[in-house]
Amino acid sequence: MTATNACYTVGIVGVGKIARDQHLPAIAGNPGFRLVAAASRNAQVEHVRNYPDIDTLLGAEKELDAVSLCAPPQVRYEQARAALLAGKHVMLEKPPGAGVSEVEALRTLAHKHGRTLFATWHSRYASAVEPARAWLAHRSLRAVHVRWKEDVRRWHPGQQWIWEPGGLGVFDPGINALSIVTQILPRDVLLRDATLHIPSDCATPIAAELDCIDADGVPVRAEFDWRHGPVEQWEIDVDTDDGLLSISEGGKRLVIAGGSVALGAEREYPALYERFHQLISQRTDDVDVRPLRLVADAFLLGRHVAVEAFGH
Ligand code: NAP
Repeated sequence: MTATNACYTVGIVGVGKIARDQHLPAIAGNPGFRLVAAASRNAQVEHVRNYPDIDTLLGAEKELDAVSLCAPPQVRYEQARAALLAGKHVMLEKPPGAGVSEVEALRTLAHKHGRTLFATWHSRYASAVEPARAWLAHRSLRAVHVRWKEDVRRWHPGQQWIWEPGGLGVFDPGINALSIVTQILPRDVLLRDATLHIPSDCATPIAAELDCIDADGVPVRAEFDWRHGPVEQWEIDVDTDDGLLSISEGGKRLVIAGGSVALGAEREYPALYERFHQLISQRTDDVDVRPLRLVADAFLLGRHVAVEAFGH
């Protein structure tokens, strides 16, 4: 068997919403992976060996090739470090950490142990992203405008971790937009100014506005809001000398200069596991901290405005 058609055994850690909605079906549909174990304090996956936490899993599953970490970001570093030290390849849900420095430390550790670390950004695999990047590569940009707005009570019911330090607040979905922006724009994006609206009973923002520029000074404005009505706005507009490029529906729709672009079927998570397989086979990694660094800069440079309590 060659590396490219190898089948790697994988364990999933943190069996909650995203693990069930996306990871389990994506693994089941990929012949390059076989799910053999799961670690979760309160949940179990059928037909695999289940453990209450990652340390117990790593202690018992000596032959396991890889783990996929799907718990909230506040525990990402400890879980990833334990897995790398146990010799496993590691896939991280987004955001790759609760802070930037811990992700850098994990990358160093992965190199030292010769293991793959994959910091995933699922929105980068939305079908509009690659054609948008290709079209923008040689265009003259004028302005970029991001609107990423949704109702937090609909999308994050009962999730307390999003309101705690490291939970990112509205940047939990907002970082998906930043992962697309940093992928499709031809130059680096720098944060210049931000306003963070933080409910008086929360540690993280419910809304935020970011004013950035690209390395040539093109304005990049992003508005994130979790107090939005029932119709989500997940949109990115890039104004260029050759017309407007508009991504909408989180990357499922693309319109360029008034014309709708035909896109392939949506397959973000299947594509993530294909990429993880490729990285393991090539013994390399993929760790891009740019979206997380912009969020960190927003916390660093942003004005904090207290707003009405969320009322958990
Ligand atoms: P979730 O359902 O609230 O949490 C996932 C699971 O993690 C929980 O069910 C819980 O399982 C475990 N967990 C929670 N707190 C923990 C802790 N302190 N220590 C260890 N395990 C803990 O969250 P989610 O929506 O799946 O999101 C998880 C990650 O995926 C986040 O980083 C999020 O940004 C990302 N993501 C989510 C979505 C989405 O649509 N929800 C989409 C893309 C990416 P046990 O109680 O059984 O341990």
